[in-house]
Amino acid sequence: MEVGSESASDPKEASRTETPGRPPVRAPADSKNRAEPADPYLGQPNGLARVKSHEVDVAVVGAGLAGTSAAAVLAGQGRRVLLLDPRAAYPDCFKAEKVEPDQAELMRELGLMDAMAPALTPIHEVLSACRTGVIERRPIEQYGTLYHDLVNGLRARLPEGLEQRPLRARGIETSPDLQRLSLEDGTEVTARLVVLACGASERLAKQLGMRREWVSRRHSLDFGFYVAPRNGAGFAFDALTYYPDGVATRLGCLSLFPVGTHMRANLFTYQDADGAWAKRFQAAPAETLLQSLPGLEEHAPGFEVTSRIEWAVIELYRVEGHVQPGVVVIGDAFQGVCPITGTGLSKVFRDVATLCLDCVPTWLESPGMGAEKVAAFYDHPRKVKTDQHSLESAFYSREIALNSSWRWRRRAALDRWSRRVASYLKLTR
Ligand SMILES: Cc1cc2nc3c(=O)[nH]c(=O)nc-3n(C[C@H](O)[C@H](O)[C@H](O)COP(=O)(O)OP(=O)(O)OC[C@H]3O[C@@H](n4cnc5c(N)ncnc54)[C@H](O)[C@@H]3O)c2cc1C
Repeated sequence: MEVGSESASDPKEASRTETPGRPPVRAPADSKNRAEPADPYLGQPNGLARVKSHEVDVAVVGAGLAGTSAAAVLAGQGRRVLLLDPRAAYPDCFKAEKVEPDQAELMRELGLMDAMAPALTPIHEVLSACRTGVIERRPIEQYGTLYHDLVNGLRARLPEGLEQRPLRARGIETSPDLQRLSLEDGTEVTARLVVLACGASERLAKQLGMRREWVSRRHSLDFGFYVAPRNGAGFAFDALTYYPDGVATRLGCLSLFPVGTHMRANLFTYQDADGAWAKRFQAAPAETLLQSLPGLEEHAPGFEVTSRIEWAVIELYRVEGHVQPGVVVIGDAFQGVCPITGTGLSKVFRDVATLCLDCVPTWLESPGMGAEKVAAFYDHPRKVKTDQHSLESAFYSREIALNSSWRWRRRAALDRWSRRVASYLKLTR
């Protein structure tokens, strides 16, 4: 996934990798006058060295939302858990900014809602509209948020006894009994189970022979920014989802929702990051939106864009070769997600619930951590369904936005009309 922000007019120029590399902690391997080799992993298989060891039940690699949630739930059950991430605080980023009803339910099921609540702004009703008028007003339990606030809020409220280390895991060796991780400070961790929650980083999975299968390259281009009404009076909606007319604009929809006291905007598109539209949008966002989404101003009169524009190019993928002893891959490390679907956190929390509530407690009761135990996680019907739904929604949303065949246009029209009718019936009941 490429991400960036608007300081350069060409999105490509603004691009940076998702996980900026840390400077090496150790001296260079060829430095002289040292008692020991500067890099204790050099020459070892998978970079592993037999150095100071530390034993836990579960080692979680990656403290994004998936890893932090999994570590919190397992530590809450009294397991010995180590949570690793080189970044002591999750950095500002453009990722999940809305929590959907199913995700709020899973947060409660996992016992994480109280810890994350301070980062959530409640949304009670979503107004959906297009050029021809209001589609529906849907009462809802939704929340606006900023992903880094959500993760850092949870990290700050982890159960006592959960050990966090601000370190990158560099090497991994697995077996049906004990797993070994080597860390960047030269120490080693042994665990009965390793949870890989490394997001887009493939490094450790690759060491185990797992590979990433691309499902859809450059699937979408998505933008995040703040808007405000020029007159300062506020908007006449809690949250708004606005849809384009037809397929010519290559837009999915615009979503406006509150985060704290501000109005955040997520614009989901299928534009080319290097194309003329993306450049025009970066240069003159409000004007370009009004041209591409006629009728928007009726619902958001006189709005202006008040922040830099953040953007992300979305790639869809799945990991393969993942059924292996001793290790489980969760969250974005397992499968990519398209933001328009609002299913990223559903996958994250479903993975965590399946792993931590349904699997790990029974796995740890008996010796060994063979591939047959691990396979039960990936085959769990609710996990399979959630992952499938996420991918299907990504393709459905893209076809609705781009496919000009009469079938898809009829589907799009039917979808809007059925929502209109359902909303009308609810209101008049
Ligand atoms: C633009 C955008 C908008 C989105 N909007 C939504 C939305 O509205 N709703 C929704 O549900 N989903 C949304 N998503 C998806 C959602 O953000 C992701 O599914 C979710 O953040 C994945 O969390 P994760 O913990 O798996 O990965 P991440 O948050 O990427 O965490 C991975 C962590 O692993 C660490 N790490 C990597 N390698 C190592 C290593 N070797 N050792 C130790 N640590 C390591 C990294 O430092 C990082 O902290 C959006 C995504 C994007 C890109």
